[in-house]
Amino acid sequence: SAPAALPLPVLGRDVTVPLVTGGEAVYAALDYAASAPALQRVWDDVAAYAPYYGSVHRGAGYLSQLSTDLFENSRRTVAEFLGCRPGDQVVFTRSTTDSLNLLAHALPAGCEVFVFETEHHASLLPWRDARVTYLDAPRTPGRAVETLERALAGRDPHGPALVCVTGASNVTGELWPVRELAAAAHAHGARIVLDAAQLAPHHPVDVADLDVDWVAFSGHKLYAPFGAGVLAGRADWLRDAEPYLAGGGASRTVARRADGGVEVAWHTTAARHEAGSPNVIGAYAIASACEALTAAGFDALVAREQELIARVREGLAEVPEVRVLSLFGDDAPRVGVLSFVVEGWNSSHFAAALSAEYGIGVRDGLFCAHPLVRTLLGGTPQEPGECGAPEGGPGERSLNAIRVSFGAGTPDEHVDRFVRAVR
Ligand code: PMP
Repeated sequence: SAPAALPLPVLGRDVTVPLVTGGEAVYAALDYAASAPALQRVWDDVAAYAPYYGSVHRGAGYLSQLSTDLFENSRRTVAEFLGCRPGDQVVFTRSTTDSLNLLAHALPAGCEVFVFETEHHASLLPWRDARVTYLDAPRTPGRAVETLERALAGRDPHGPALVCVTGASNVTGELWPVRELAAAAHAHGARIVLDAAQLAPHHPVDVADLDVDWVAFSGHKLYAPFGAGVLAGRADWLRDAEPYLAGGGASRTVARRADGGVEVAWHTTAARHEAGSPNVIGAYAIASACEALTAAGFDALVAREQELIARVREGLAEVPEVRVLSLFGDDAPRVGVLSFVVEGWNSSHFAAALSAEYGIGVRDGLFCAHPLVRTLLGGTPQEPGECGAPEGGPGERSLNAIRVSFGAGTPDEHVDRFVRAVR
């Protein structure tokens, strides 16, 4: 089917799963927003490198030098992929969550933080030790800009401030007006970090063009394996901050002081925040995914995803009980991520049935964006509101939703089977 036309084959074979109704089905993974399959090219690159890897940075041997080059070249590849400015740093982290926590750790003293309540918890929660202003959910992209401008207008423009915003929602898939929000932040003397966990796998991200100060994303959503992520952007706050982790690799020199303590001179490069032996394979896999996506061209990926979105939307439109969730309106541009509820059904039961009866893997719950999902469902806060916890039995209204998401490698057959199952 169609993905053959897309020059981005993903790793994997068809996996056959047993169904409770008897028989079996080829598993349809429609949960790319949580973790996407690795690209075949990424896996091939990692396998080709595997026989040659050695310790990085501190080894004198040939393979150590090769690995060090590969690690440092991966940084350059990622910087190019993101359109970084000269002087920007690319720090390899574990994930988007880790990247944003690192930036939270590097905030200058007295920094104010502005964040929409609609954010994923990874963008919402790391700033708890700063002075945080949570902004109400805007119902249009224009409102988002106005809300931010109003909030920033009241602050002291000379003090440091950071805005944190998602590029594409992990719940609705909707695109946020990043360029306009960056302009608003900068007009009021604030910096901005882009949570590109959902944007980068679906859309080109150009840091210089968007004029964002930092960007964060995860390898496992960008068709690379688990365990590595990126924080890229302005060097100054990162260079001035205490190391995120203290240890070897982050320190340039360490010496005993006359008073018995130790004197440490920390690196001022990305290494400052990468103490310990780094995840070289994870970094290399991300760089390989960046190269593969660039070579294939986002145009082909976006066009394919839009086809799939249209297929899903048309199919779901025929089911009157289905309500697709949207903050910015039904026609708002989105990436291949879509959440919905089915009237008369508990979302967790519904998702469980998709898996057990049809072999379709989706996600249910509040998607680690509890305030947003509650806003979208018009719900009152509930306790305990766990991600994915069923609330109520069949036939009762549930305060959670079902999310379907896809991308490179998704065949028409998977989304068609999903639509038939929902029907
Ligand atoms: N931000 C967004 C928008 C996300 O969708 C996610 C993952 N669901 C994250 C941040 C966190 O990513 P990770 O779990 O890889 O740290």
